[in-house]
This record gives sequence, structure tokens and C-alpha cells, in this order.
Amino acid sequence: MYRAPRGMQDILPDDQPEWHYLLDRCADIAKRYGYRRIDTPIVESTDVFLRGVGETTDVVEKEMYTFLDKGENSLTLRPEFTAAICRAYLEHGMASWPQPVRLYSIGPLFRYDRPQAGRYRQFHQFNVEAIGEADPTVDAEVIDMAGLLYEELGIPRTSLLVNSIGDEACRPSYVAALRDYFARHLGDLCADCRGRLERNPLRLLDCKNSVCQRIGDDAPRSVDWLCDACASHFATLSRYLDRLGRPWQVDHRLVRGLDYYTRTVFEYQPHDVGGQSTIGGGGRYDGLIAQLGGRPTPGIGFATGLERILLNLKKAGFEAPPPARPVAYVVAIGEETAADAVALAATLRRRGIPTAGPVGGRGVKGQMRQANASGARYAVILGPDELAAGEAQLKPLQGGEPRMVPLWRIADALTADT
Ligand code: AMP
Repeated sequence: MYRAPRGMQDILPDDQPEWHYLLDRCADIAKRYGYRRIDTPIVESTDVFLRGVGETTDVVEKEMYTFLDKGENSLTLRPEFTAAICRAYLEHGMASWPQPVRLYSIGPLFRYDRPQAGRYRQFHQFNVEAIGEADPTVDAEVIDMAGLLYEELGIPRTSLLVNSIGDEACRPSYVAALRDYFARHLGDLCADCRGRLERNPLRLLDCKNSVCQRIGDDAPRSVDWLCDACASHFATLSRYLDRLGRPWQVDHRLVRGLDYYTRTVFEYQPHDVGGQSTIGGGGRYDGLIAQLGGRPTPGIGFATGLERILLNLKKAGFEAPPPARPVAYVVAIGEETAADAVALAATLRRRGIPTAGPVGGRGVKGQMRQANASGARYAVILGPDELAAGEAQLKPLQGGEPRMVPLWRIADALTADT
């Protein structure tokens, strides 16, 4: 028997109501903040992610689904949205639109990661980007939008962690200090971290190994190495966050996994699942557009995993709105009424009434069982006698008396009752 690829899931009909509820909430909040939807292809030229995300990141080194198409072009299933959206920003000349350009996306992403609870190889994100503005008001806007989403969804208690990792002016000296510090502890570091020390010492700060974490506790802190411009940006953002009244704290270990971040980085973590289950996060990427070949253009974004939101919601006792049920289930008695029953069901649907059936070749009992199982409010029963009289029987399935209704009035009768 075939199964879905490892780490990838079907979203079954029963799961669709909660799924769509979530999609709607995300789209609603994005619109309220003035973000417009953009959809980019599921695949991009591999270069977009190599240059955008960074060659020494886990995502690029280990997790990309990359393949050659029949024209020998290297394509990659998108592992994240930001680089792809910046590619679209450049391709479509969005620099000439009023800045910042506020965009959101919802869709599947692919990372060849070790599957576990809340970690999949195909997962979905709600992602927002504000491109073209360096001012910290936009940082505050994006951070607030994420927080409000969790609040309105009813995810109880999340911590907002924020850090500033500087820019190209001040980060090199911070990274050098970090490299010196970790080099002094080389013997105690895990193999991964020893390998990363030269290439990407920032990543040592978010290693999950407990010994590396303890060493990281006393590592130099990026906020102590900020240049004046970055320090002032962070101080202003801190004021805005305080003023928003949303509790937050600086997390010196927060660096995020992707290379393109500058200055502000942030994450939301649910309280009851420990530090590793970030529900969403983001940050500034003031160098990314230039990295992709555009003029220097600042930007900031945020992404949250929909599967992870659902896990948290379910833990908090969330129940999805009940699935939609048909209003009518058309039952045909006997072969000779089948054609008229098919036409009647079609007419009801054209009138906007969710209608199931008829299914031919079954007895009345079998069809009534199906009608009941469908959750429909009414069975619309059409037999030879009814047909001869130009009527159908309208039978309430959740209690009530059946009645005969002229065929031309069935849609009105169902509409009046719904
Ligand atoms: P990232 O793009 O890595 O910053 O991730 C942003 C959010 O996407 C995370 O906080 C998760 O909610 C979600 N996410 C990231 N990777 C996965 C994955 N492999 N499976 C499910 N959700 C993920």
C-alpha cells in the first residue's frame, strides 16, 4: 500500500474546517494591518535560496529538496517564503510602489528535516513581509500582528523573545568575539558546533545540545556589540514594544537559523512546551534584497507554522467549527425517477442550496441511511407517485412531519427553512 511521503500529511475532509478557520483568521489579521496577498511558485531557482538564505544554514546545507528539471535547471521546492517574495519584489519592480510594500502568503513549504511532533517535511506557514522601510515602527507593527494573531486564536500564554544581532557594520566584530569565546571551549562543543565555529559562529548560540547551551549562556551578547545606529534602532523598538503593552524580553541567545537577518530578530514561544517549540518568528533582513541583486532595501517579516498553531490550539481544548452539512439529500425511488432526481438536485444546487444525492442503484432504505449519515436537514424524496403529481416529499431528518411540496416550490421551501 502506498502512503504519503514521510513527514508529509493529507489534510482530510474532517480536518478542513479547522484548517480553513485558521487560514481565514490569518488572512483577516493580515488585511487588518494592510497586508496584501501574494502567491509565488512552489519552486524557485535554487540560487534564490543559496544567495538569499545563506549557504551555511541548516536549511540550505541539509534540508532543501533540490532537483534538475528536464532543461537542466536547478530548482528547489521552497523551504521558506522570504527569499522567494524578495525575488518577486525585484522582478515586479515593487520598489516603485509606495513603501513599505506589505505582503502576506499562506502555503506549503518543504524541508528535509527529521520528522517529529510539530516538525514535518511539508508544512504550511502564514508569512508576512514589509519591504522598503527601515524604521522600527514597522518592526513593532509586524511583532504586534503576530502577537495579536495568537491572542485572537486563543493560544494561551506565549512569550515574546526579542534580540538585535546588528548589521554589517557591527556584526563582524561581534562574530569575531563569539568565535574567540567558543574557540576557548572547543573541546566541550558538540561535533556540529565544532564544524560550524569557523563558518557560522552565530549558530552555536541556538545549538540544542545542553553542554553547548551552558557554554552559550556566558557567551558575548550581541546587544553589547551594536553600533550606534543599531543600538538606537533597538532602543526605539524597545520603547514601542513597551508602549504596546505586550510583555517581552531580550533573549541573548536568539539568532534565528537563517543568514539574512539583521538587527531585530524575534520569536513567540508557547509556555507549556519548553524552549524548542517556537510557534513563530521573524526579523529584519536589510541586506537581503541587495544580496539578490537589487538596490539596498530594508525589510522585515514574520512566519508562523499552521500545523504548530493547531497543535497548540488543540492542547488548549480548541474545537473547530462543525463541518458544513448538506441542507438536502435527494432520494430517488425506483429507476424511472432517477433522471428527474438528478435534475432536481442540480436545480437545488443552482439555487445555492448545498445538496447531496441522489445515488442510483440503491433501495430507499439504503438511500435514507445515507441521507441520515450525511447530516442533511431534509430528505427530498421523489418516487413515481410524487413525480406523477409534480411533487416531492420533504422529510425533516432531525424531527418533524414530512410534507408534500410541489417540485417548483422545493427550493423556496428549503431556502425559507434554512
Ligand atoms: P522558520 O521559517 O524556521 O523561522 O520557522 C517559522 C515557523 O514555521 C516555526 O516557528 C514553526 O512554527 C514553523 N516551522 C518551521 N519548520 C517547520 C517544520 N519542519 N514543520 C512544521 N512547522 C515548521
